[in-house]
Amino acid sequence: MRHVDVAVVGLGLAGAAAAWAVSRRGQSVAAFEAYAPAHRRGSSHGHARIFRRAYLDPLYVDLTGQAGRLWDRLSDEAGEPLLAHTGGVDHGPAREPARMADLLREHGVAAELVDSREAARRWPGIRFEGPAVYDPEGAVIDPETAMAAMVRLAATAGAHVAYDTPVRALDPDAGGVRIRTDAGTWHAQTVVVAAGAWTGPLLDGLVPLPPLTVTQQQVFLFSPVESGPWPTIVHGESADGLDMYALPEGPYVKVGEHVNGTVTTADTRDFTVDPAARDRAVAYVRSRLPGLDPVPRSELTCLYTSTPSEDFVLDRHGPLVVCSACSGHGAKFTPLLGELAADLVDGRPPIGRFAL
Ligand SMILES: Cc1cc2nc3c(=O)[nH]c(=O)nc-3n(C[C@H](O)[C@H](O)[C@H](O)COP(=O)(O)OP(=O)(O)OC[C@H]3O[C@@H](n4cnc5c(N)ncnc54)[C@H](O)[C@@H]3O)c2cc1C
Repeated sequence: MRHVDVAVVGLGLAGAAAAWAVSRRGQSVAAFEAYAPAHRRGSSHGHARIFRRAYLDPLYVDLTGQAGRLWDRLSDEAGEPLLAHTGGVDHGPAREPARMADLLREHGVAAELVDSREAARRWPGIRFEGPAVYDPEGAVIDPETAMAAMVRLAATAGAHVAYDTPVRALDPDAGGVRIRTDAGTWHAQTVVVAAGAWTGPLLDGLVPLPPLTVTQQQVFLFSPVESGPWPTIVHGESADGLDMYALPEGPYVKVGEHVNGTVTTADTRDFTVDPAARDRAVAYVRSRLPGLDPVPRSELTCLYTSTPSEDFVLDRHGPLVVCSACSGHGAKFTPLLGELAADLVDGRPPIGRFAL
């Protein structure tokens, strides 16, 4: 049996960040990923996620600031840009543009409240029916490049990295946890579980988790007919109504719905795009994104793992640290998730709202 200080289960964005942060702090690390790098069965594949400061919740505005500084550090250490600085636009009544602009400014973000006429002039590809908030720190993250960079930096710091190596069981014992894989058993004092949609089944009976709902979501890529500029976009009409996002991905603009996913599990989901979701995305593009050709060029499914509050789960239960970037908005916090997981490994307390 091989021994390490810390094992990491899962090398999506959260696990890759944890492996990087923990190994940087000088602990010996072994990281296990069930599938190949950049596989498409989880939540972190592809080349575009939104980074934004624009939240209506002060906790997340603060955390996005910390995450932004860590993204810069990660890009520096990786020697490559991981964020494309497009700026971000939030609009629609559910985004409460006036309140959001005030909150962002209170947190030092140079946010602008823009009326609909000025917004239409600046972003002709978008149809506005009211004011918008411009978040100059909005950006597009490249998750696959970021995961590769964090794993590379962790390996350079000495981490053992094993892809195509599912962890079959975690068995806590007096000194830590036994980690069973088909390639042998390891022992670690602490295990960071960053297993995304597999977190519930893997920790069943070991950790009292909040309810976690796994949904299959879909995104659609559309070609611009209007050259832009294309910022990241979050558009919410009402608390229980239209809740859309869009962002540039390569030559396309990716459009998705934050809601209306199909409840499933990580192992039984079918990878089939919901035709009703495609119809809604096309209708949305026709009515609200006139700068796009409303024929999807490509489409893809992806998993959300959501808590009822949409908060994350980042806490420790004995030797097991749960690092779950839940609810469809975790990518932007990636390097911070790693730091918070490493803090839990070091015995620091969780952020109250992320506690088990
Ligand atoms: C369509 C879509 C759009 C999104 N857009 C945004 C956005 O714009 N901005 C934003 O901030 N966030 C966004 N998110 C959310 C963000 O992508 C996720 O929060 C993030 O990717 C979660 O990463 P993770 O590491 O927790 O999960 P995952 O990426 O799923 O990683 C978990 C990993 O654990 C592995 N694993 C599981 N069980 C085991 C085991 N037993 N042994 C070994 N390995 C195991 C899995 O194979 C997987 O690779 C989006 C998500 C989706 C689906």
